[in-house]
Amino acid sequence: MKRIALGGIIHETHTFAPDRTALADFERQSLHEGEALIHHLQGTPTVAGGALDGLVQAGYQVVPLLYAAAMPSGKVTVDAYSVLTSELLRRLRAALPVDGVLLTLHGAMVSESQDDCEGHLLSQVRELVGPGCPIVSTLDMHANVSPAMVSQANVLVAFDQNPHLDTYERGLEAAAILHRMLEEGLRPSAALARPPLLLSALTTWTEQPPLRPMHERAQVMEQDPRVVNVSILGGFAYADTPYSGVSTVVTTTGDAAMAQQLADELTHIAWNNREAGQYSGLPVGEAMRRAMSAPRGPVVLADVGDNIGGGSPGDGTVLLQALLEVRAPDAVVILTDPLAVAQAYQAGTGSHVAMHVGGKVDSFHGAPVWLNGIVERLTDGHYTIEGRDHFAQLYGREAHMGRCAVVRSGGVRVLLNERKTPPGDLAQLRSQGIFPEAQHIIVVKSAVAFRGAYGPIAAEVYEVNTPGLCTADLRRFSYHKVPRPVVPLDEDATL
Ligand SMILES: [Zn+2]
Repeated sequence: MKRIALGGIIHETHTFAPDRTALADFERQSLHEGEALIHHLQGTPTVAGGALDGLVQAGYQVVPLLYAAAMPSGKVTVDAYSVLTSELLRRLRAALPVDGVLLTLHGAMVSESQDDCEGHLLSQVRELVGPGCPIVSTLDMHANVSPAMVSQANVLVAFDQNPHLDTYERGLEAAAILHRMLEEGLRPSAALARPPLLLSALTTWTEQPPLRPMHERAQVMEQDPRVVNVSILGGFAYADTPYSGVSTVVTTTGDAAMAQQLADELTHIAWNNREAGQYSGLPVGEAMRRAMSAPRGPVVLADVGDNIGGGSPGDGTVLLQALLEVRAPDAVVILTDPLAVAQAYQAGTGSHVAMHVGGKVDSFHGAPVWLNGIVERLTDGHYTIEGRDHFAQLYGREAHMGRCAVVRSGGVRVLLNERKTPPGDLAQLRSQGIFPEAQHIIVVKSAVAFRGAYGPIAAEVYEVNTPGLCTADLRRFSYHKVPRPVVPLDEDATL
């Protein structure tokens, strides 16, 4: 029975965020080694769950290495990166010889000392297994792809959808490609192309240009039997690296020139749609006016600048302040604020509280807001995911927001939690006695990922141009490593 090594390290790194991502952040969210990795991932809708199922169904013996994932946040510490990669490599070395390697990586991980963590890790894996051993890796579609990633892996398979609802399928696809390499003699050839284009998180929604027309063309390309995979990466512009931005990776059955030509063709589509990539959402006042005059709810307001899934703290107050000012009816905002949760706990259910909430982590997401209200409910913050959560690769089926408090002020409810939790599932509100379908306005700390859960119930959706670490206006950051000129930072960028 052929043996395939399976492992992954997943982190999306916001290099402008002041915090650091330590080993404890991975331990708190997802860190499993050896057999525990299989127990943790089997039967989950994650990319690694799909990869695992695909390998088992194809009759391979899976050699579990290490699987680690943490919420998007600041640079990974030197210590955490070194501990995770050396443990993964140690287990691989001990398992040699293997017939193939399947990794699930994000593609936008940056450590304090390494701009291209995935390229660096893949190079070391390649060195261990040798040039003839197939290496296939999955990537998030927010990966910033480096030439090293393309040359050290044989095939890269990125998610096609944002929100990432196709993670499991891409895991299965990666396993199927590895199977073709091992059983059918497939010798793939991959090419990378990159237009000088950075997209904010908001414009990496795959239902809108620039990514939508690229995917439409990619679907046609993939019907050609010589094309193994077409991956379209929106990139993660909140990481300042030499490889940040939009890219395309095309893998063929061996024709290198064809792979390059198709990858280049897709970058032209991206470039021709670059204007659409500059959309930054509605001003706060306009969004509030539209939400208040909407005939029915729920109106979902996306707090783009405080996008938890991009590395923001989730305690931004700009939209809460606006809702309180207009005395919004049946509105809900989730804020991460452990101190305020403690104050609400101290007061107790049914008590009146007056306290500052939010805006405490840094100075980018609005000032703390004075909240005068009643503590409606206190919980331990556990909930079971009812849909296919965007962040399922972190949580599996259970999510934990830390202790929670619901405080009501007029028609506005604030769900205070201890741990920032992306709005990937309606059970997050439902578990706190808040019925999302009955709200008039729901604020979500997200740019795109919320659409998976909230899209189907929303009467209207408005993306709001709020300030914060994940602002849609990329010109607010000081980039040092991104190759220039590039859109939207420079006017003289050309393809
Ligand atoms: Zn992503």
